[in-house]
Amino acid sequence: MEGAAVRLLRGSALLRRHVPTCLSSWKTPPRVLKSSQSAALLGVTDHGPSCAALQMFTEEEMMIKNTVKKFAQEQIAPLVSTMDENSKMEESVIQGLFQQGLMGIEIETKYGGTGASFFSSILAIEELAKVDASVALLCDLQNTVINNLIRKHGTEEQKATYLTKLATEKIGSFCLSEAGAGSDAFALKTRADKKGNYYVINGSKMWITNAEYAGLFLVMANINSDLGYKGITCFLVDRDTEGLHIGKAENKMGLRASSTCPLTFENVKVPETNILGQIGHGYKYAIGSLNEGRIGIAAQMLGLAQGCFDHTIPYMKERIQFGKRIFDFQGLQHQVAQVATQLEAARLLIYNTARLLEGGKSFMKEASMAKYYASEIAGLTTSKCIEWMGGVGYTKDFPVEKYFRDAKVGTIYEGASNIQLNTIAKCIDTEY
Ligand SMILES: Cc1cc2nc3c(=O)[nH]c(=O)nc-3n(C[C@H](O)[C@H](O)[C@H](O)COP(=O)(O)OP(=O)(O)OC[C@H]3O[C@@H](n4cnc5c(N)ncnc54)[C@H](O)[C@@H]3O)c2cc1C
Repeated sequence: MEGAAVRLLRGSALLRRHVPTCLSSWKTPPRVLKSSQSAALLGVTDHGPSCAALQMFTEEEMMIKNTVKKFAQEQIAPLVSTMDENSKMEESVIQGLFQQGLMGIEIETKYGGTGASFFSSILAIEELAKVDASVALLCDLQNTVINNLIRKHGTEEQKATYLTKLATEKIGSFCLSEAGAGSDAFALKTRADKKGNYYVINGSKMWITNAEYAGLFLVMANINSDLGYKGITCFLVDRDTEGLHIGKAENKMGLRASSTCPLTFENVKVPETNILGQIGHGYKYAIGSLNEGRIGIAAQMLGLAQGCFDHTIPYMKERIQFGKRIFDFQGLQHQVAQVATQLEAARLLIYNTARLLEGGKSFMKEASMAKYYASEIAGLTTSKCIEWMGGVGYTKDFPVEKYFRDAKVGTIYEGASNIQLNTIAKCIDTEY
């Protein structure tokens, strides 16, 4: 026994010698956080005591939220099942989005946009997704990715040409992913060779959302592969440009009304005036826009999870088994309460991230957290809703199975869940 105790002591002494120095004493003060969170808190203090609860909205935000809710319920809801079945977005829905000003929410009014805030876009995406996640994706990509890339990096001429159309009639597509470049997006092989005052694009893209209906493609191509990702440049390519071929839409599990197509570029000539921003800065623009886009995808996931929940609870309050409402069984009540809490937590993460962005604060870690968490809980919520509804939840007679199918992609696109976790971990690494 004695020998064993000595061995244990010796072991712990050995362990102590290998303990990192920061753990050597409990008296060591905690390190000062460099995290964006501490900066954000400071920022709020700077703006005085006017900080409101995250779910308190401005008049404009409230108006947009209510308008979108009404539009979604009256004009989209009756078409959802048919659009899913036919894998086709109804033209009336697309036109409705433009007419309601929902395709140019942040675009300045001088270009024909709504001139509202990023937060308003997030509320609009959430409300649309409660009814149909495919329509929400159309609105999300246009606002958080396409329009914002041009607003931030476009020349005055590009803004006048494209923003006016994007706000009123033209859908945009974001073309980054390729067959061999998904999570490792900057391994893309599409290239753009300079010839005089234009570039010639050759290559192919995969998974391009809205390609079937898009009039403008924002294409990431490398102008010099020797430069690696620093050669990636963003080109504005019009749909009718010769050599741009849009392939057959993917036959997907969910988001069936949203078209997702491969593209090929065969000697596509693009004038150098159609380069967006600076040559070789495409990777920066992609990272920046995807950071913002992730807040949009998080809102889409939250909206669809909430929509599914909203369909399910009334059923649980009506369905009688063992002589009482199934909602009255405590086993189910606790599950419902857990899911409702997770939805609330996701909503706060998303709204907080959107407010950080609007306040000019760092939001990369929070955007990844919001996207990661909202997609995970969307999968969980929609799966639980099917269980709570029993057999009917598993049929296409009720909308919950569609929400379940639509939710899965949240853990895949605009950075798979593992990629979000990588980003969060990287940020934490720099904070301590
Ligand atoms: C419906 C849909 C719409 C889309 N729309 C667009 C669009 O409009 N424009 C566009 O450019 N792209 C679009 N995409 C592409 C999307 O962004 C990619 O699918 C996504 O980035 C993942 O790439 P991948 O499919 O090649 O998966 P992969 O990169 O092959 O990943 C497969 C698995 O490996 C894991 N993995 C990969 N790398 C790592 C790592 N370093 N550490 C840990 N795990 C890792 C991933 O988490 C995932 O689970 C869309 C995709 C879908 C399905």
